[in-house]
Amino acid sequence: MQARVIIPLEEFPEEGLWVQGEADGALFGTDDTGAACVGALSYRLEAQLFETELVLRGSVSAPFRLRCDRCLREFEYTVTVDDLTISCDVRGKAEVDVTEELREEVLLELPGYPKCEISGLECEINDTICDFRLDKDPHSGVNSATPSGKSVWDALDDFPRK
Ligand SMILES: [Zn+2]
Repeated sequence: MQARVIIPLEEFPEEGLWVQGEADGALFGTDDTGAACVGALSYRLEAQLFETELVLRGSVSAPFRLRCDRCLREFEYTVTVDDLTISCDVRGKAEVDVTEELREEVLLELPGYPKCEISGLECEINDTICDFRLDKDPHSGVNSATPSGKSVWDALDDFPRK
């Protein structure tokens, strides 16, 4: 599989050019979040050459293994960018390497706080089972007041006084 996405500019057809294929997902490396690409970067792009500029429009996608932010389960999720537009300066070039541009577009779409629900899984830790919101009513199940609702010290008032 090709390691990079390179678009040749020589004898570039005036009406444009469709470029599609796959590049090795290793180009993503692994980042700090633990997200790892587990397949290939797929691309399907329409390339058009203007005087000094190559414009690419189309879609890219790549499958990633992510870790759910809540339940810590690993799951696969395919990032797809459908409305991609990239332009590159082509002055003095015989070909353009757009690997880095495509890589960035995909990485931008990676969820920062992935939840396994985004890939259709049911998260084991969800809001109905375990509510982590801090603004909920405190309800510990332990009532510190007496059944009458008075303070426990009120009972001392009933003691016979001398
Ligand atoms: Zn989860």
